[in-house]
Parts: sequence; structure tokens; C-alpha cells
Amino acid sequence: MNKYQHILLAVDLSEYGEYVSEKALSLAHKYQSKFSIIHVLDNIPMPDTNYGTVIDLNHDSDYDLLEVEKSKLKELGKALGVTVDHQHLVWGIPKQEIITFAKQQHVDLIVLGSHGRHGLALLLGSTATAVLHTADCDVMAVRLPME
Ligand code: AMP
Repeated sequence: MNKYQHILLAVDLSEYGEYVSEKALSLAHKYQSKFSIIHVLDNIPMPDTNYGTVIDLNHDSDYDLLEVEKSKLKELGKALGVTVDHQHLVWGIPKQEIITFAKQQHVDLIVLGSHGRHGLALLLGSTATAVLHTADCDVMAVRLPME
């Protein structure tokens, strides 16, 4: 297998994220790849914000719900040893933003969970299915327990 240059970990910040993250990180270490994390904000209202808007993690807002999401992403980044400039928070539809980011940033492997908080009843969640079918690069769907 060729060496991956840039691995993108897509996280929904659910309880299973850690398991997926560890697998992605171990691949990044193995291949000495650039490693980025993306979380797409789709669970809080963001009035007057266009899909695809990148949220600045270095700038505090007075929107509490947004600050909570930022903190969760930063905590995960810290736990994985990923600097803030490689953590990305984007407002939009997860499958679209993951694929757009991967194209723009020349990602050659996307790592995500087989399901997440939207797909607990499915063998393969809708984000995972869409990314697997649409991405230009390799995609690894980490099989997660169904319970
Ligand atoms: P789903 O297909 O929505 O059940 O989720 C499958 C996987 O896609 C999750 O385990 C995450 O790795 C990724 N994912 C889902 N939602 C998001 C999101 N909002 N931001 C980033 N990644 C996500």
C-alpha cells in the first residue's frame, strides 16, 4: 500500500469517536502523514451562516452552544496531540463538508465510523455511505459496535 500523505479524521463527537480516532491516529503515525480532524456542525442552529462557513477556533463567541462544540473538538484534538490549526469546525451538512474539505486539502484517506449518532439503527450510517460513494480518495469506515 502506498504511504498516505494526508489523513482526515471525521468525528461527530459522539461516544464512539475515541475508538475511530485511535485507529486513524495509528495509521497517521505509521505513514507519518499530515493529520487533520473535521467536525461538521449540524446539531445547533447557526442563523445567518452559510453552509461551508469555517468556525474560527481561536476566537471566542458569546454563543454558548457553539463554545461547547468548540471545546469538545479542542479536547479531542488535545487528547490526540493534534494542534488547533489541524482541527476544523465547519457549519453544514456532514457528508458535503467532509468531501469538500478532503478535495480542497488533498486528503488521500478519510477515516470515519461505520455509524454515528445519526445512524445507530443502520449497518452503515448515511454520512458513512455518502462519503464512501462520493469521495475521490480512499475511505476507511471503522466498524463500530451496534449496541
Ligand atoms: P453516520 O453515517 O451519520 O451515522 O456517521 C458515520 C460516521 O461519520 C461517524 O462515526 C463520524 O465518523 C462521521 N460523521 C457523522 N457526522 C459527522 C459530523 N457532523 N462531522 C464529522 N463527521 C461526522
